[in-house]
Amino acid sequence: MEESKTSAVSKKEAYIYSAVSPDAAQKKRFEAFLLKEQGEEFELVWKQDETVGNGFRLEAAGEVYDWTREGRYRQLADMLDEIAARYDDEESDVITLFRSSIDSWAAHVRPEEEGVVLTVGDGIVLAEGLRSVVYGEIVIFESGVKGMVQDLRPDCVGIILFGDDTDITEGSRVRRTKKTAGIPVGDAYIGRVVNALGEPIDGEGKIKASGYRAIESPAPDIVSRQGVDTPMNTGLLSIDSMFPIGRGQRELIIGDRQTGKTTIATDTILNQKGNGVICIYVAIGQKSSSVAHIVGNLKRQGAMEYTIVVSASASETAPVQYIAPYAGAALGEYFMYQGKDVLIIYDDLSKHAIAYRALSLLLERSPGREAYPGDVFYLHSRLLERSARLSDAIGGGSMTALPIVETQAGDVSAYIPTNIISITDGQIFLESDLFFAGQRPAVNVGLSVSRVGGAAQTKAMKKAVGSLRLDLAQYREMEVFTQFSSDLDESTKKQLNYGQGLMKLLIQPQGHPFTLHEQVIILCAAIAHVMENVPQNKIIKFRDEMLKHFSMTESALCAKIDETGIMTPEEKKQIIETAKSFYEDKWQH
Ligand code: ATP
Ligand code: MG
Repeated sequence: MEESKTSAVSKKEAYIYSAVSPDAAQKKRFEAFLLKEQGEEFELVWKQDETVGNGFRLEAAGEVYDWTREGRYRQLADMLDEIAARYDDEESDVITLFRSSIDSWAAHVRPEEEGVVLTVGDGIVLAEGLRSVVYGEIVIFESGVKGMVQDLRPDCVGIILFGDDTDITEGSRVRRTKKTAGIPVGDAYIGRVVNALGEPIDGEGKIKASGYRAIESPAPDIVSRQGVDTPMNTGLLSIDSMFPIGRGQRELIIGDRQTGKTTIATDTILNQKGNGVICIYVAIGQKSSSVAHIVGNLKRQGAMEYTIVVSASASETAPVQYIAPYAGAALGEYFMYQGKDVLIIYDDLSKHAIAYRALSLLLERSPGREAYPGDVFYLHSRLLERSARLSDAIGGGSMTALPIVETQAGDVSAYIPTNIISITDGQIFLESDLFFAGQRPAVNVGLSVSRVGGAAQTKAMKKAVGSLRLDLAQYREMEVFTQFSSDLDESTKKQLNYGQGLMKLLIQPQGHPFTLHEQVIILCAAIAHVMENVPQNKIIKFRDEMLKHFSMTESALCAKIDETGIMTPEEKKQIIETAKSFYEDKWQH
């Protein structure tokens, strides 16, 4: 550097690769070309390279100018790709356009920035030479495989691969695209199963995209948001009554393995039928067979009509699992910014964190707590912040997120669970003990909370719920204290019986969401102690028969509650009266 400043003779070197040495006239032309392109003079150095055929490759200041046959071919292919991306309507149109474009195409050598692979393995590539590449940029390898730049170092860059690394070896070339990672988006995605790159994996053919969205985009700012005030009903009595979720909220579903976490999410999807909410289920690091099972279930129940499944299964590489939730969020944003309501489920973020840890360790980032890299909090906060309820000025759309986290032996204070608890607006905590005791969904009433959803709960539900949460908390406490005592007084027995009854009422089979009026009726009847004398093992039967009775005798009231979300005090009285007389007529012997 010092030298080049002081002496005028030492010019920077540029390299010419060709099979035979260029003659003096050719050298002159190259020098003139570089002076025009880069605005400075270069010292030309010839390097013999048999692989370039009868063309030339010129490298100067990190840029590559390619006059070889492959280079020309690539430039032509790039031009055709650009055209194809713009015209995806009628095939015949694009062919004529190709023809005329090729006729008028003049080989124009553009500078390309290329790098050379240093090492490759486990879906990670280290490459040198890509001097101006930016973080998050997509790069393309000779084999056609794409990768994303995830690590910028002084002498090389770390790239995560989105495809097979078998054709990439030390010395392979890689070039910049100057684009950040994105996926195609469009209405045609609804009803489809895609991978993390937005490619269909359900065998139902091509998806016609109507746009392209970066997978990482900034979350809406405060001004673009408004408060959460519309319910996102799950159809699960235990959640809608005590931990209501609003549109635009982020509610964590957390629990050990096999505690019904996924079921809560899929039941919520089923409950959105016919209300215009678009659902996106992102499966991260799960077995393909489990995902197929979920898709099958959704299809059978007619829920795929408004659902998109993004799957990065356990057999995919860590980079692909890492980008899957961002890709899902990009699809969700496409709909949210059109003013639509979206429900997105990330199942699950523990596996996402593990995938990120794997690729960070492979990129040689320094490990922090539990070997996770230092930015693991940012990993999830930037994802979940993208859920929002947008202000009316920009369409009023929303994206509700239900991230799922798996705990080990109920430990919510482990690293990833505490992180995500602090990012979300509340959590539904599922407990193995409850689950195995048959209390399903296994919601732990004491440890679950919804911090913003209360504002979104319907008036009818608020009135019906009354003191349910408090009653249950008292019951749980009393249950612990009395479990070893044999002689209980009447009032304690009665209270225990009431609490047990409430718990039984919250039991709900998989795939059977309750409508609003059904939830309201159950709660009104329960809190008025209508089921006091129904034996515990018959409570569920009573509940279901009572609901049937209501749908036959009070259909107008039921429809009104569902439609308006309002219940007057008179109507509440009427519900309790009907429930009581149903008990007296049909159940009291
Ligand atoms: P994993 O940790 O494996 O992801 P998970 O916590 O997501 O498990 P699910 O797969 O939802 O749990 O449920 C586990 C099992 O419990 C499933 O067989 C499911 O059918 C059953 N199950 C879940 N919820 C209920 C319910 N409310 N009633 C009856 N069975 C249920
Ligand atoms: Mg699951």
